[in-house]
Amino acid sequence: MADKKQYDLLIKNVRIVRPNADSVQASDIAVKDGKIMRVGPGLDTDASAEIYDGQGRLAFPGVVDAHMHTGIYSPLPEDAISESRAAAMGGVTSSLNYMRTGGYYLNKGGPYRSFFPEVLALSEGRFYVDYAYHLAPMDRTHIEEIPDLIDEFGVTSFKIFMFYGSHGLHGRSTNQHEFLMIGEDERYDYAHFEFVMRGLQGAMQQCPAKAHQISLSLHCETAEIMAAYTKIVEEEGKLQGLPAYHAARPPHSEGLAIFIASYLANETELPNINLLHLSSRKALTAALQMAQVFPHIDFRREVTIGHLMLDIDAPTGNLAKVNPPIRPREDVEFLWENLLNGKLDWVCSDHACCKHELKVDHENPGDIWLAKSGFGGTEYLLAALVSEGRKRGLSYNRMAELTSFNPARRFGLNQKGDLAAGLDGDVVLVDSNENWIVQAEQSESQQGYTPFEGQQLGARVKTTFLRGRRIYDDGQVIGEPRGRYLSRPY
Ligand SMILES: [Zn+2]
Repeated sequence: MADKKQYDLLIKNVRIVRPNADSVQASDIAVKDGKIMRVGPGLDTDASAEIYDGQGRLAFPGVVDAHMHTGIYSPLPEDAISESRAAAMGGVTSSLNYMRTGGYYLNKGGPYRSFFPEVLALSEGRFYVDYAYHLAPMDRTHIEEIPDLIDEFGVTSFKIFMFYGSHGLHGRSTNQHEFLMIGEDERYDYAHFEFVMRGLQGAMQQCPAKAHQISLSLHCETAEIMAAYTKIVEEEGKLQGLPAYHAARPPHSEGLAIFIASYLANETELPNINLLHLSSRKALTAALQMAQVFPHIDFRREVTIGHLMLDIDAPTGNLAKVNPPIRPREDVEFLWENLLNGKLDWVCSDHACCKHELKVDHENPGDIWLAKSGFGGTEYLLAALVSEGRKRGLSYNRMAELTSFNPARRFGLNQKGDLAAGLDGDVVLVDSNENWIVQAEQSESQQGYTPFEGQQLGARVKTTFLRGRRIYDDGQVIGEPRGRYLSRPY
């Protein structure tokens, strides 16, 4: 029976970091057929076909990066390869990507019944980590398609970009129909958002078994406030760079959008709302106030690693342009305070690879208005959270909830999110003592720069296992892309 071992892989000598626990345990992890079979100390090495010595490192559940954008600025087939390699480097094993019709992405409109199979076909065989998509209903046809997207395509999470009413991705815009590629008789406005919510609520009623894992995510910024303030800040010309962008998209534009979104969710009896990338004191305060006003709504509050690690004085300047903007230090500290208080549900990257040649204007690299929005960061998500979170007193167990368990449960990834028997063998080993300096040139991402450049981190992802296979080890991505599409609930 020598060739019929009990385990395929035994990860020995690690310190297990489980969510919903209050300590880290010395342990081993045994995997069979891609699933965790046993977790415990002193597992029998003779019973395993392969042994991996974890050298006393921390073993976290594979990161579920709940908010990424693959294929937004570069063609999806190439972005899927390079950016999922960056994800693997960061210990990410599940990549959840926001996708929509319209400008950028595939640069086309039309119904999801033809659009989404194309997305899946372009993704197939190109991801190094498991992946799924959140979809944004942009017109009335998409709203009608929601039940089919849930049932046939396993998409259980949807999105509204509240600021697209009069803004493009990078600034003011007057040709929204061209940008969003919706019909002349369509409007992407509050009424549309209400009907998206009604459509989703109806779909939840139709499939009660899945309803608790169906949710709506909102990018909360108010187009009208942003348009007015952008004009004022541009015309005054007193501010530049990140401070100007912060002033042009002021925090109360986030807070107002959160109030509107919450009111509509209550009006339409939609119970599961994800408030994405809260960036400021006003945004998070508004989100907490709405949770008090509407206690029957299950709100989840998201924060990105960018908003936790950067402020408007970041030395990388315009390379850190993103929506919502990077905020002053006081806002960043408020986010940390509430992360420690348990008021934020998960930390994600909002990874959107925007290559240097695209990111800033060649003639005017200092012009924040001409710079493009968004940047990558999935490769630094866990290492940065461990480094900075530990200094501030965040426990490792809580980090495992914030980067894996919480988003996995919210988004229907029931086989992910923990290191427990029966779940996928997604494990990431972290050296909690390695000091290193972030340098974009070491990243697998094709972005070519990072707004985190030069930051010193005190922990590093060393090894990533996806369903029991090593996909990243000691600085190298290993093997072929083996990521699978995660049809949800998974
Ligand atoms: Zn995003």
